[in-house]
Amino acid sequence: MRKFLIKQWLRKHDWFWETRTRIFAWYVGLTTMFIGLSIPIFTELTIIQVDLRVKEDLLEEIEAFEESFRDDTEEDIAIIFDRFLQYKIPGDKTFLIATINGQFYRSSPLSLPQAISPDSPLIKNVAQTKKPLRGKNLIPDSQVGDIIYQAEPVEIDGQVRGVLIVANIPQGERIEVLAAILVVIEVLLVAFILALIFAWRMVGKVLNPIRSLTKTAKTISETDLSQRIPVRGQGEMAELAKTFNKMMHRLETAFKTQQQFLNDASHELRTPITIVRGHLELLEYNDPQEIAETIPLVLDELDRMGRFVEELLLLAKAERRDFLILEEVDLSELTVKMYLKMQGLGERQWQLDSQGKGKVIIDRQRIIQAMMNLAHNALQYTTKPDTIALGSAIEKEHIHFWVRDTGIGIPPQDQERIFQRFARSSNSQNNTKGAGLGLSIVSAIVQSHNGRVELYSQLGKGSTFTIVLPKNTKLKNTKLM
Ligand code: ADP
Repeated sequence: MRKFLIKQWLRKHDWFWETRTRIFAWYVGLTTMFIGLSIPIFTELTIIQVDLRVKEDLLEEIEAFEESFRDDTEEDIAIIFDRFLQYKIPGDKTFLIATINGQFYRSSPLSLPQAISPDSPLIKNVAQTKKPLRGKNLIPDSQVGDIIYQAEPVEIDGQVRGVLIVANIPQGERIEVLAAILVVIEVLLVAFILALIFAWRMVGKVLNPIRSLTKTAKTISETDLSQRIPVRGQGEMAELAKTFNKMMHRLETAFKTQQQFLNDASHELRTPITIVRGHLELLEYNDPQEIAETIPLVLDELDRMGRFVEELLLLAKAERRDFLILEEVDLSELTVKMYLKMQGLGERQWQLDSQGKGKVIIDRQRIIQAMMNLAHNALQYTTKPDTIALGSAIEKEHIHFWVRDTGIGIPPQDQERIFQRFARSSNSQNNTKGAGLGLSIVSAIVQSHNGRVELYSQLGKGSTFTIVLPKNTKLKNTKLM
C-alpha cells in the first residue's frame, strides 16, 4: 500500500524526475556523506594526535629525571626525588608523583586530582612496578576522562627503591580541540548551505540548453523546420545544441528536397498526361487513319511515363542496402559487351578507347545501366559525324569506365548541377526528351559502389564522363554471387 502511494506521488510530481532535481539530490547525498564521514574521522585523528603529543611530553619528563639521576651519586632515594621535584615544574595538566617502597612520597604540583591522589588505586598499583611502564598506558576514568601515565622504577644498588610516575589528564586539551572542531563544523555547515544554493542555480544554468532544446523541439512542426537553438559558450551542452541545429538543418534540407522532388515529379508526369488527354479528346473515333496516327503518339507518351516511373523506382531502390548484387566480373569482356550494346543505340562514330584487364567485383547489371545512360546522353547531344568512345582501365586500386563524346559540351556553371535530380544544362534545354534523372541514376549507382563520377567537358568540343570505382567493392549486407 505504502509502495503504491509512493509510486503515485512520484508519478504526480514530475519535477522529482527532472535531471536538475536528480543531480542536486546526488550532490546533497554525496556532500552529506563526505561531511558526515570526514568529521568523526577528523575528530578521532586529532584526539589521537593530542594523546601522542602528551605521551611524548611524559617521556620527556621521565628522560629529564633519568638524566639528573644518572649524574647523581646520592644513595638516598628521598633526596634524589627531592632534588628533582624541587625545581621541576611540570607542564599543564601534568603531574609528577614519587613513590618510595610502594608508598606515596611527594608530588609536583602538590595538589593532585582525586583520580591520581596518593590513595587512588592507580597510584597504589603503579607504585609496585619493577619495570618501566611506557607508551600506551591509558586509564579511562568516569570523572576526569582518560588518564595517560608512564612510570620509571628507580634502582639503587640493584634494588628498586621507588617509582617516578608522570601522569597527564588530557581531557582539557581534548575539549579545546573539540571546540575548535565545532567551529569548523559550523563553518562547514554554512559553506554547505551556500554550496547547495549555488549548486541548485548552477545545475539549472548548465541544463538550460537542454530545456531550450526541448522547448524548440516541441515547437518544431513538419512544416516549420527553421527553428534553431541559441548556442552559448563551449563544452558538451554547446556541442549538443550545435549537433541539434545541424540535424535540424539536414532535416530542413531533406524536407525541402523531398518537396521539390514531389513538385518536379508531378510536373513531369502532368505533361504526358496532358498530351495523351489532348490527343484522345480530339480523336475522331470513326476515322481509322487518325486513330492509326494517334495511337503511336499516345503510346510514345505512355512509354515516356513508364520510363519515368521506372527511373523514380530505381532511385528509391538505390537508397536500400540490398540495391547491389556484387559479382566477380572480367573487365575486358564487360567493356566489349557494353561497346557492342551501345552501337545499337544509334548511328555515330563509335570507338573503343581501351579495355582494362583483370577481374573486378562490381554489380555488372547496374554498371551496364549507368554506362548505357551515359552513352544515351552522349547520343542525344551529338550528331551523326560525331564520335562517341568508351573505355575502361585499372589504375592502382581503382577501375575507370568512361564515355567520351565530341558533342555540344556542358557549360562550366552547369557541370555540377546536372547530377542533381531533374536538372538539365542550359545548353540543351530543348534538346532532351529525358526527365533529368539519367545522371542522378548514374550517381546513385556509382555512390552505392563507393565510387565517384568525374566530368570533363568543354563547350562545343564535347564531354567525358568517367566513373571511378574501387576495384573490389566491399559493402555490408550486399549479396556476392
Ligand atoms: P536528361 O534526362 O535530361 O538527359 P540527365 O540527368 O541524363 O537528364 O542529364 C542532365 C543534363 O545534363 C541533360 O539535360 C544535359 O543538359 C546534360 N548532359 C548530360 N550528358 C551530356 C552530354 N554528353 N553532353 C552534353 N550535355 C549533357
